[in-house]
Amino acid sequence: MSDYDVIVIGSGAGGGTLVRHLAPSGKRILLLERGDWLPREPQNWLARDVFVDNRYVSADTWYDGDGKPFQPQVHYCVGGATKLYGAALYRLRKEDFGELRHHDGISPAWPIDYDQMEPYYTRAEQLYQVHGARGEDPTEPPASAPYPFPAVSHEPRIQQLADDLAAAGRQPFHAPCGVMLAEDDMPHSACVRCSTCDGFPCLVHAKSDAEVLGVRPALEHPNVTMHTNARAVRLETNDAGSAVTGVVVERDGARETHTADLVVVSCGAANSAKLLLASASDAHPNGLANGSDQVGRNYMFHNCVAVLALSKEPNPTVFQKTLGLNDFYFGTDDVDYPLGNIQMVGKSSAEMYRGEKPIQTKLAPEWTLEKVAHHAVDFWLSTEDLPLPGNRVSLRDDGNITLAYTATNDVPKKRLLHELKSLLKHLGMQHDHLLPRHAYLKNDIPVAGCAHQAGTCRFGADPADSVLDTDCRAHEVDNLYVVDTSFFPSIGAVNPALTAMANAVRVGDHLLERMGAPHAAPEPAHVG
Ligand SMILES: Cc1cc2nc3c(=O)[nH]c(=O)nc-3n(C[C@H](O)[C@H](O)[C@H](O)COP(=O)(O)OP(=O)(O)OC[C@H]3O[C@@H](n4cnc5c(N)ncnc54)[C@H](O)[C@@H]3O)c2cc1C
Ligand code: SF4
Repeated sequence: MSDYDVIVIGSGAGGGTLVRHLAPSGKRILLLERGDWLPREPQNWLARDVFVDNRYVSADTWYDGDGKPFQPQVHYCVGGATKLYGAALYRLRKEDFGELRHHDGISPAWPIDYDQMEPYYTRAEQLYQVHGARGEDPTEPPASAPYPFPAVSHEPRIQQLADDLAAAGRQPFHAPCGVMLAEDDMPHSACVRCSTCDGFPCLVHAKSDAEVLGVRPALEHPNVTMHTNARAVRLETNDAGSAVTGVVVERDGARETHTADLVVVSCGAANSAKLLLASASDAHPNGLANGSDQVGRNYMFHNCVAVLALSKEPNPTVFQKTLGLNDFYFGTDDVDYPLGNIQMVGKSSAEMYRGEKPIQTKLAPEWTLEKVAHHAVDFWLSTEDLPLPGNRVSLRDDGNITLAYTATNDVPKKRLLHELKSLLKHLGMQHDHLLPRHAYLKNDIPVAGCAHQAGTCRFGADPADSVLDTDCRAHEVDNLYVVDTSFFPSIGAVNPALTAMANAVRVGDHLLERMGAPHAAPEPAHVG
């Protein structure tokens, strides 16, 4: 008999959500997480520690396609990247599930349509306590339920921005936010609405992340065990290669092997591909479940740009990530290809700019960094990048990751920036300044900014060109599943986490059925 019914490897948006969903079934579940609990400490909210010194970025070295080493912006801890995320919890658009023609080529259709994912989006929004307002975003897909919580209000400067955008004929909307904020009852609100949210861990555990709303509630069930500092290094199979028979783990300097009837990989797109490729065997000579040669390929991470505009009036906003604009998502009157999404990012500070040469050199000496920060309005522009087979994770001889990546859709990315720039004069902003924010992208090497990584084990109906079937089960290995963002066949232009969470619930339902376990009613969330 196996040690466990299910082993889940990785505790982020995919794995953390899945474990929470499976926990009430009573099945024996082991969650393996290579990182530790992220420490709760004052530095959680200090810009210098988080943004300048990269306190919570893990010490991996990956290599680009030319063999140049870089430090990827990855976070190995309970909850994974969601510990640092901005908690903008968007659904993909309905059209993103179909084939879309872009400037640089085709964004392929998903093997399931939006209507099949919709109920799981609704459940994920409830699980992650998303705040939002339906009916404002002209591109939003149909939903079977309202957001579980009202939208987070705009602070005055952002409300002014929303009003100015509307006056300019645009349709701004309240961005969907995963923060446990009760604006009508602040004395009892878990979230204190602070300025250090997007890109920071939440010191008071009020962000809807996969640790707080996934792992912690799951661990309240005695049938769920978690090992931290436990890195899965190899999956072993039977001789035929048709089933995983052991998960080999490095923990506390020693190797151990665990067995389970079902094994779910959820290490993040790059590391899930790494684990499968590192699990090559006689039955799977090119890597586990890689008969299609698709494992590691089609890596995507959005073609993004973070910019700051300078408001003529001061911008004292504390929590800025409340507004989005999708008017250019599918193009404009004279552009017939998609451009992408515009949203706010966390309010920048002088501390974050230190070392950012463009800001220091372009504006000095008239603007001190403090003055820039006082007037900065910070935007994040996200354009879909296309799944190219050559954009891929592969393994070097020493076992480390090579990440080869060539950008796509640079023309729409620039056009989206142009659209924002041409709006500035209507928005009370200095129209000659739209400055790139390197700290937000965290690095001059674009490929290192892998926050939105996806696509290395795409799901599909045809085993010849996909790794997973529509249940996210490996075509070639009966008891192996992948539930992180690896499964995305295309990434759309909105943030990916809610789609990973919704899909984890979807796959969770499938696993419960497969195990003959009852589907549990959703539980109320526990905070802290
Ligand atoms: C700064 C930042 C801001 C972001 N903002 C947003 C946002 O506002 N909205 C949004 O939708 N998305 C956002 N994202 C992206 C979002 O966090 C990710 O899309 C999401 O977390 C991906 O989920 P995942 O399950 O694929 O991987 P992760 O959440 O990264 O989880 C993978 C987990 O696997 C563990 N792991 C890796 N390898 C192994 C191994 N071999 N053995 C055991 N464990 C392993 C890792 O430690 C990690 O805990 C942001 C990300 C960052 C970094
Ligand atoms: S208190 Fe609220 S705004 Fe501050 S980090 Fe936590 S969730 Fe974000």
